[in-house]
Amino acid sequence: MYSRPVLFDQSPTLADEFSLLQGRTKIAVVFDESGKRLAESLLQKAENIPAAALLVSDSTPSQAISEFVASQKMGTQICIVSQWDTAYRIFSLTVDEGASEEEIQTLIVDQKKRFIYCMKCFSTSEIPSNEAAVQCQCGAHLEVGPFFSKVRKGYIGYPFIPVQQRQTVGS
Ligand SMILES: [Zn+2]
Repeated sequence: MYSRPVLFDQSPTLADEFSLLQGRTKIAVVFDESGKRLAESLLQKAENIPAAALLVSDSTPSQAISEFVASQKMGTQICIVSQWDTAYRIFSLTVDEGASEEEIQTLIVDQKKRFIYCMKCFSTSEIPSNEAAVQCQCGAHLEVGPFFSKVRKGYIGYPFIPVQQRQTVGS
């Protein structure tokens, strides 16, 4: 079953700085207020490449973003430069317009977010980025699995019983 890509903390589209992806000859930058400076320096770096840009805010209608993406020509690289939540939204709309991950580069201005899907209560919640295990709001202790579910929009979290007291072998 095909599941459409979503933005997550290990997305292949995430980059620390702008680079032209293979086969791309044009760029279209979609950015928010916080990504303005980064978007400007990106456009300077890419001054020999045909470029288009769109500034979005929370009040920008999704349709305007979709139309901007849809109006781009073949070979265009979509550059998302914004805070995580805005990037998540732009990414989804871009994929809805038929873009593949090979055509998108995402630069996050604030922090990447990470989510876990609890296999006990079937809810998705945000978790810190470096924890191997977390406690769900339902009380279950969850091991953060290696598998990210595009459908559940989170890493699969496997419930486990925490060991309260470790026994030392040989004592
Ligand atoms: Zn839970």
